[in-house]
Amino acid sequence: MRSLVMRQHDYRLDGRCVYCRTDMSGYAADEVTDEHIIPRALNGTLVIRNGACAECARLSNKNYEAAALNSDLLVPRRLLELKASRRRGKNQSAPRPLPPVALGDFGMGGGVFDLDLAREDYPQFFSLVVFQPAGLLIGVDRGGDLQNPSFQSFNLGGKSRDSDVTTKHTMINGPFAMMLAKIAYCYATAEWGESFFDAKDIRDLLLGRRNDVYNFVGNTESPERLTTRILHGLYVHRRGEWLTVLVHLFASCHDTKDSSDCHPYEVVVGRAL
Ligand SMILES: [Zn+2]
Repeated sequence: MRSLVMRQHDYRLDGRCVYCRTDMSGYAADEVTDEHIIPRALNGTLVIRNGACAECARLSNKNYEAAALNSDLLVPRRLLELKASRRRGKNQSAPRPLPPVALGDFGMGGGVFDLDLAREDYPQFFSLVVFQPAGLLIGVDRGGDLQNPSFQSFNLGGKSRDSDVTTKHTMINGPFAMMLAKIAYCYATAEWGESFFDAKDIRDLLLGRRNDVYNFVGNTESPERLTTRILHGLYVHRRGEWLTVLVHLFASCHDTKDSSDCHPYEVVVGRAL
């Protein structure tokens, strides 16, 4: 197991697109793009410089990343923007509206999400879906259907909840899981290079040639909490025949003191070679 918590880092690959592996030497500058392993909108700091061809970057954005950032990740995105605008002080361009909230304790529907709060009163917490473990790890074909999701909550405010206001979790089946697959694959490739694992299947998934995302993406069954104060953590893990990446999104922001409630995402990136 190799542990690497996430700080600022620029990776450089072999001049081929991380997704389609096309040799990009000779490409014009606007045909090559930096690949942000965790999106900038989530304050990701790991970048593969000139890592993707413009076509693959366009497709990943269109096929899942934009949808994930506008559904499962909308509330944390807006909260991060809010924090950044507070740090910069006033005189900023008009902030984007925060998603409506509800009074009471229902993250997934139930309540009427029409409460409009002042920005300073907006609650700093949100939830992320917890998946069943990846199908490949337990020998079950999970296909592309989301099964029995649960949720864990995060708190960007750092203080315990003193509000009975709830942010809404909006979920679309697929895009968020695909984004996690992308994060894990890009990270493993950037850190280890492709000679360490057979990446063909997950690359097919990311290029839209298969759609069984839940065979690759899940959460760990056993709890794990990073002892870190940084926002996101990633590390590569050898699990039997598989190479996986543990994706601790918002690692430092679990809204619980009980580590047994913390379950990172675990993505199978391929058979270890
Ligand atoms: Zn490409």
